[in-house]
Amino acid sequence: MKFLVSNDDGIQSEGILQLAASLMPFGEVVVAAPDMERSATGHAITMSRPLRVRKVKLPGLSVEAYAIDGTPADCVKLGIDELLEGKPDYVFTGINRGANLGTDVLYSGTVSAAVEGCIMGVRSAAFSLLFGETMDYSYAGKVAAEVVRILRDKDLTPDTLVNVNIPNVPEDQIRGMMVTKLGHRKYSKNYEKRQDPRGRTYYWLAGELIEEPLDWDMDIEATKNHYVSITPLDYNLTSFAMLDTFRKWGFENSSRP
Ligand code: MN
Repeated sequence: MKFLVSNDDGIQSEGILQLAASLMPFGEVVVAAPDMERSATGHAITMSRPLRVRKVKLPGLSVEAYAIDGTPADCVKLGIDELLEGKPDYVFTGINRGANLGTDVLYSGTVSAAVEGCIMGVRSAAFSLLFGETMDYSYAGKVAAEVVRILRDKDLTPDTLVNVNIPNVPEDQIRGMMVTKLGHRKYSKNYEKRQDPRGRTYYWLAGELIEEPLDWDMDIEATKNHYVSITPLDYNLTSFAMLDTFRKWGFENSSRP
């Protein structure tokens, strides 16, 4: 088995080292990741300047690794197209420092890197460890290994990506894995308005999470209840439920407006 590993926290982050280490027993691992933190860059790609690739050594790991001055999606695209010999069997991303739950997946570079894998026809999964006072990625690494064991003889097509969120609690408090749907995360007071030393106003994204009741099988709720959340995500954003309604509303007819 061949894995392409990427992330959005940057190639020097602890989470990507753990993910690469946890996948090594299953086959070949190649790391292609941003040379600096690129969290919350979503699915951006670089078009207006060239991309530079630097071969690097990862501490304590004997894997091929590339640091790229681009976004997470750039890394996966370039990795599959140019850096790897042959298509990988999987694109695994993370382990992200912090959750990627609910609507936040749309901002996430980690999830977007996995989406890019899917777009390129490779089965992909994204891994995120919830924030905590300490960030110990070792259990999350075990979860990644378990995901490989489950997926390897299954018929998952690259149309679906596996979004995995791991609660930040001691391993013995984990209650198991749960298949979940995305919840919704809404924030209030998104920006703090301040003044710079020259008297000009600036805004800094802050935001407080609005706690609202959610279904028990939503990803946010599951991780709160100490379950590892496994969400199948489809990057085709079509609302299939609304297709017929749109036709009935008159968006579809044979005469030009
Ligand atoms: Mn991140």
